[in-house]
Amino acid sequence: MTNKQTAIEVIKRLQRNGFQALLAGGCVRDMLLGRRAKDYDVATDAQPTDVIRLFPRTLKVGAKFGVVIVLTEGQQVEVATFRTETGYTDGRRPDSVKFSNAAEDAGRRDFTINGMFYDPLRKKVIDYVEGRADLNSRVVRTIGKPAERFGEDYLRMLRAVRFSTQLGFAVEPATWSAIGANAHSIAKISGERIAMELEGILVDPNRAGGASMLIESGLAGVIFPGLPCEQEKASIAILSQLRKKVDFALALAGFFAGGETDFAVRSCRVLKLSRNRNKHIKFLLSNRGKLLDDRMSLAQLKKILAGPYFWDLYELQRAIQKASDDGRKSITPLIRLRRRIKALGDVELRPKPLLNGHDLIRLGAVPGPGLGQLAEEMYIAQLEGVLKTIGQAEKWTQEWLLKHRTIET
Ligand code: ATP
Ligand code: MG
Repeated sequence: MTNKQTAIEVIKRLQRNGFQALLAGGCVRDMLLGRRAKDYDVATDAQPTDVIRLFPRTLKVGAKFGVVIVLTEGQQVEVATFRTETGYTDGRRPDSVKFSNAAEDAGRRDFTINGMFYDPLRKKVIDYVEGRADLNSRVVRTIGKPAERFGEDYLRMLRAVRFSTQLGFAVEPATWSAIGANAHSIAKISGERIAMELEGILVDPNRAGGASMLIESGLAGVIFPGLPCEQEKASIAILSQLRKKVDFALALAGFFAGGETDFAVRSCRVLKLSRNRNKHIKFLLSNRGKLLDDRMSLAQLKKILAGPYFWDLYELQRAIQKASDDGRKSITPLIRLRRRIKALGDVELRPKPLLNGHDLIRLGAVPGPGLGQLAEEMYIAQLEGVLKTIGQAEKWTQEWLLKHRTIET
């Protein structure tokens, strides 16, 4: 069963037991747009205790807030009790929630296009917030007064940009100007939540449009304080040249590619990304330009090719080149690089070192930083094709050790 079928089964059971139960939010929007929905959420007037009683396997993730996850073979459906949320004193989350009815539940949602319900059994859209009209005119508009709604949860400003980017919708003018007026308050939102929305914006094929909205609204400048103006233009140009499907690290590198690596690395800290992601971004930005150098040695080329992010670096550099003034001419070094890579043919790109650390120690190397240097130099000699056999590598190592010992003593 698909996630949608499972959600409908859940709705059937709730309705059979006398409750109101509907598909809600994003999935209704996506169904009406003919887009594939990410997940199908159910909203109901059943209390969490009713939901837990009616289904054999449930997870009480947020029963206090009215959210129960119903588990069936391989699927899970979020079932939320209709609720109102009040007292957003911190601009991040409600102080309390109260269970209520469908109309009030629609009213607590962020945007009109996200505020509709659908009854899959009666095949009826239930729209208390004129979401359908905005869907037809392709507009992102807050439910209620924009400044108030953003004041409850400032993350909604980024969500507006995300939905506008992903759906290709305009942001309704009053909603847009409230984002501009409140952009400084995005600083109250945690880096992790900001990162999730930014990812949605920047991995979307329309990322250049999304990035210009982030910049124009002032959100980008608050999230990344000190973002230089010149960099902003370059960012948009580079983002618009990246291929359709990219991951978040490559997209962020593209966003920061018009400026300094150190600034980007420092800026990304606020997003609390994983160590690997940070490493990935730093690699891409700090190796900018290297692929354009025809004089790169064979060893350097093989080493960089062997790394996990080579093709992302290639893609970033391609976008940088194409975004430059003479886009066409400037990708010629990359074309030459591709020829060079092709000419390597089936040469193994990431060979195992001929000797590992244990081998080097056996040959007399002393554990410590010197060992790392020896291993690195030996590997380069191997990649250069100077060392082809284990015997050659051993001889080379012994000579290296002799030379370095003489220097030390
Ligand atoms: P996506 O397809 O990207 O998941 P979505 O509309 O389903 O988009 P979710 O973040 O999954 O978005 O949230 C589900 C629904 O919950 C939204 O459609 C909206 O009605 C409501 N919602 C989510 N976050 C907020 C928020 N910060 N403020 C108000 N309502 C929200
Ligand atoms: Mg969703």
